[in-house]
Amino acid sequence: MRQRTYLSPTLRDIPSDADVVSHQLMLRAGLIRQSTSGVYSFLPLGYKVLQKVEAIVREEMDRAGAQEMFMPSIQPAELWQESGRWDDYGAELMRFKDRHQREFALGPTHEEVITAIVRDDIRSYKELPMTLYQIQTKFRDERRPRFGVLRGREFLMKDAYSFDVDFEGLDQSYDQMYEAYKKVFTRCDLNFRAVVADSGAMGGKDTHEFMVLSSIGEDTIAYSDESEYAANIEIAEVNVRYKPSDEAEKPLQKVDTPDQKTIEQVGAYLNADATKCIKAMLFNVDDQPVLALVRGDHEVNDIKIKHLFDARSVELATEEETVKWMRADFGYLGPVHVPEGVTVVGDPAVSVMRNLICGANEADKHYTNVNPNRDFTFDKVSDIRMIQEGDPSPDGKGTIRFKEGIEVGHVFKLGTKYSEALGATVLDDQGKARPIVMGSYGIGVSRTVAAIIEEHHDEDGIIWPLSVAPFQAHLIPVNIKQDEQKALAESLYTELQESGLDILFDDRQERPGVKFKDSDLLGLPIRVTIGKKAGEGIVEVKYRKSGETVEVHRDDLKNTILEYVNR
Ligand code: ATP
Ligand code: MG
Repeated sequence: MRQRTYLSPTLRDIPSDADVVSHQLMLRAGLIRQSTSGVYSFLPLGYKVLQKVEAIVREEMDRAGAQEMFMPSIQPAELWQESGRWDDYGAELMRFKDRHQREFALGPTHEEVITAIVRDDIRSYKELPMTLYQIQTKFRDERRPRFGVLRGREFLMKDAYSFDVDFEGLDQSYDQMYEAYKKVFTRCDLNFRAVVADSGAMGGKDTHEFMVLSSIGEDTIAYSDESEYAANIEIAEVNVRYKPSDEAEKPLQKVDTPDQKTIEQVGAYLNADATKCIKAMLFNVDDQPVLALVRGDHEVNDIKIKHLFDARSVELATEEETVKWMRADFGYLGPVHVPEGVTVVGDPAVSVMRNLICGANEADKHYTNVNPNRDFTFDKVSDIRMIQEGDPSPDGKGTIRFKEGIEVGHVFKLGTKYSEALGATVLDDQGKARPIVMGSYGIGVSRTVAAIIEEHHDEDGIIWPLSVAPFQAHLIPVNIKQDEQKALAESLYTELQESGLDILFDDRQERPGVKFKDSDLLGLPIRVTIGKKAGEGIVEVKYRKSGETVEVHRDDLKNTILEYVNR
């Protein structure tokens, strides 16, 4: 492609409305332009990358046996009313009326449409299993569209749906998609983890989010530095075998701690480490008082408390509730002499300790030398704390680190939710009608492009992985007005293209500084510079990723590039 007439407008300055690197670089390198909030055009260079990612997704879906199809964006309200989502989906669903005042939605996802098709056209268990997918524009009226194409209101998604006769079949279909997703994101050169997500009652194994580890993102991921373990910090279990303290038990003492409420304050005042303190927090768990105890350097995880009590709601108790339930002063809570009716739950880290400090349920007072099972008892001992960086990985391999994550894909076991709502059944081998068991699987194709840039860039611009680079090499004559350079550039351009390479040829009459700056910004894997040594047939090859440069004779250029590209 000749750059002079190629629509690839670059920007020198960082656009003021772009907060994250990928958004800035996509604008600066001329990959996208905004049309309105959360709605973008992909310019030619950006579209090439989008298509490369799309092709990888398509290849892996096809290889996994999924069948590509294409569904409409316009979806009738009736379908969404049948599933119940016309009301449940809320304001994110983009709705409109046609000229006859009939109601429609622009598809944010396609469970309803695909289930209706399968309902009408699949009759027998013999026709299953089946996985169908499409790559298509989705519409969601996001509350806060932001970060460019990372959270758009119109975006490209691959969505797949599996149909099985039973749950064992679903497990297999799910695993196939899970494996295909790993291949997709590996080929996109992303540092990702399949993160167990909280699917509420289902227990957590039935949904995984594929998260690219990053410094931006809305979720914090706890991952192992040595294994594949990864979980949202909200649900990551703590699996530490605490060594019981071998201190001798000392006599319980009540001490004055005027105005010392937080662990830091009390610790400093009594000259004790946070690990010697008990952090006691009172929760309202479905209207029952629960006193949660963790070590002073730990944090209570209320989601774990929710699961432990199989509760509908868990809230921190109000001051009023605290006074009522604990007959205690707010801010000085502790487990010694807890009134009847209050359930005491301790984290294992607390249960093994001796001679601890805790609130005395009385203003300006703490106990020291508190000993579990002597001065108070637990109703339950269970993992109720947040995992922390430095904890051992729950799978026993490696140490936990934290990172933010960008969700690029999601696999989900739907079960029979949609098939039951829409009446999609098959006859089993006994001739009995059964609801089809479904899974749904999404990849944010446009979001993946941004995630790749988020991971692969430096201060000069993008560094495209070869697998998704819009062109493999950038051919740059330093001075296009110089005959020898121009002639060599033209002949190399033809030759490289003929060998099947996709080349961007900077035939513009720009200053070298401008060309090189643009070239770094666009980030093609290889740059071929044709300069002073053009007469001798010598050109310079520079690799964007390593920064390494070598001089190569024009006769060897093709093979040098091909070797790098086909590694
Ligand atoms: P998020 O929590 O980020 O809103 P989601 O849970 O709503 O995502 P899904 O419904 O599972 O997402 O959609 C499948 C995939 O589509 C997501 O994993 C993500 O990669 C992508 N995606 C979702 N919403 C957007 C958006 N607004 N812009 C771009 N990509 C999106
Ligand atoms: Mg969403």
